[in-house]
Amino acid sequence: MVRKNRKVISRLSRYKNALNRFQSLGFVKIFSDYLAEAVGVTSSQVRKDFSLFGIHGNKRGGYQIDALLERLNEILGKNELQRVILVGAGNLGSALIKYKNFEKDGVKIVAAFDIDPAKHGDRDSIPVLPLDDMQRFIAEQGIKTAILAVPDVAAQPILDRLTSCGIKGVLNFAPIQLKAEGRCVVNHVNLELELENLIYFVNAMEKTGDTGLGN
Ligand code: ATP
Repeated sequence: MVRKNRKVISRLSRYKNALNRFQSLGFVKIFSDYLAEAVGVTSSQVRKDFSLFGIHGNKRGGYQIDALLERLNEILGKNELQRVILVGAGNLGSALIKYKNFEKDGVKIVAAFDIDPAKHGDRDSIPVLPLDDMQRFIAEQGIKTAILAVPDVAAQPILDRLTSCGIKGVLNFAPIQLKAEGRCVVNHVNLELELENLIYFVNAMEKTGDTGLGN
């Protein structure tokens, strides 16, 4: 598979979401300008991103939405169910287990692992297992992706353990920057940081009537 940078891939996900919305509104074809506007990029950016994957529109007709979605799902690995594990079944982890909308997007949490025996057992039909079972589970089930919802102090050692078990991608919710050894991609979701950033702009807007972002 062609290796592309994260920004391109994250734009592809945004194009896909926008295309799903256009399709549900009954659109069959779309021009790059409309898609660009829906996603907040330029139309030349859209065309450039698509051409990296050999997707070319038709000057007069634009892009056929169903074919484009099919191709984007293929590129993003959405045509087959992605099975992921979760480490840390505390408050945040449990909320992620309960959140069934991932499945609509082709992602399923198949098991969770926790150090605390009190958390073990089934939760919302998903087994919460001891950490000692993790390596075997990953190997037997061929799991490549994990979600990390452990406290920050535990995050790096767990990431190291996951990478040594062959995990290739981690979505980290612990509010700490992690370093992965070898070939593993770590994406960070820092809810505290996002909120802090948002609150700054809300306060700035209240003071000046402007976000200062130029929009
Ligand atoms: P709770 O109060 O239910 O534990 P919490 O979300 O406030 O929830 P945290 O301290 O953030 O708890 O821990 C999140 C989860 O991560 C907990 O279930 C905890 O048992 C688990 N955990 C902590 N350390 C590890 C570890 N090293 N490996 C796996 N799970 C861990």
